[in-house]
Amino acid sequence: MSQEMIVNKAKLITNINAIKKMMDSRRIEVAAVTKVFCGNPDISKLYVDCGISILADSRLENLLKIKHYPVRKMHLRLPMLSEASEVVEYSDVSLVSHKETAKQLSMSAERQKCSHGIILMIDLGDLREGIFEESTIIDTARYILSLPNIQLEGIGTNLTCFGGVLPSLENMNKLYSIKKQLEHQLDVTLNTVSAGNSSSLKFVQECDSLHIVSQLRIGEAFILGRETAYGQAISGTYNDCFTLRAEIIEKFNKPSIPIGIIGTDGFGRRPTFPDNGYRIRAICAIGRQDVDLQQITPVDERVKIIGGSSDHLILDIGDCAHDYHLGAQVTFTLSYSGILQAMTSEYTKTVLV
Ligand SMILES: *Cc1c(COP(=O)(O)O)cnc(C)c1O
Repeated sequence: MSQEMIVNKAKLITNINAIKKMMDSRRIEVAAVTKVFCGNPDISKLYVDCGISILADSRLENLLKIKHYPVRKMHLRLPMLSEASEVVEYSDVSLVSHKETAKQLSMSAERQKCSHGIILMIDLGDLREGIFEESTIIDTARYILSLPNIQLEGIGTNLTCFGGVLPSLENMNKLYSIKKQLEHQLDVTLNTVSAGNSSSLKFVQECDSLHIVSQLRIGEAFILGRETAYGQAISGTYNDCFTLRAEIIEKFNKPSIPIGIIGTDGFGRRPTFPDNGYRIRAICAIGRQDVDLQQITPVDERVKIIGGSSDHLILDIGDCAHDYHLGAQVTFTLSYSGILQAMTSEYTKTVLV
């Protein structure tokens, strides 16, 4: 394996408990999103052991890995028509915006002799998934209520994902009034108003007494200990539960500018470099096939990333006090998308410590 993702269990458990406690005290149910670590079962188990009651993922491959845990599973991405059967098999509830999708889920649930929950997605303006036209919302909800083996659990929305729209009293009240309207017009009780993602944490903390939201789907806040509307750290949490380690495969003193006529690099770009004279350079066995190198930061501030190619990461270690010898490991923290990419690389070994 080229590189290791080190997951600090104690830190992650601290984060899970801190956020769960915050939500419990507001009587908000948490759906813990497992996609950033590709549904890794050992990491998912930490959430289950902390009493999280729903695990949520966008991909069937990930839901399959956590199928055996005795908690509810949520399919986060709108299901493909072609995968309706597996969605019903591997999850208990899914986020849906089209009648046709609901119909396929219903037919699959009938065949599998089970019941499947649906949360109808409403687009409040962020312009990713969800129904935008209000007349379509009522119409679709009525249709879903008529389907056999389907339970309309409530409505949901997703903000700050595509359009960057922040949760506000205005858009959240709109969601709540849609729920009330549906309940009134269709004579049903909708138990769930599902909001998300980590950008809604600050909103639900500040608007304590409103009880608009009954469920939050949260991924990043657990992993990086921060809400994502303003990037503020959540007190009592860690931002380094996940760190990446890569091994040094070469260490030499070399000039800082290439020698010869400069064409393009391995990615079709014409590189330029500042002349810092001879520097001690280390090459680590990790590259752009594993992670966007802009998304990782050396824990040792004196290690500088110079660049990299598909399988090589080139570092300037000339200012380091630590002895980075051949075969030593260099440790990096990562952004959320960095964790997502590195976990998705099949060359990454995940190690829980
Ligand atoms: C990924 C995802 C989330 C979680 O987002 P975070 O920013 O990681 O908290 C919530 N809802 C949906 C529909 C998602 O796809």
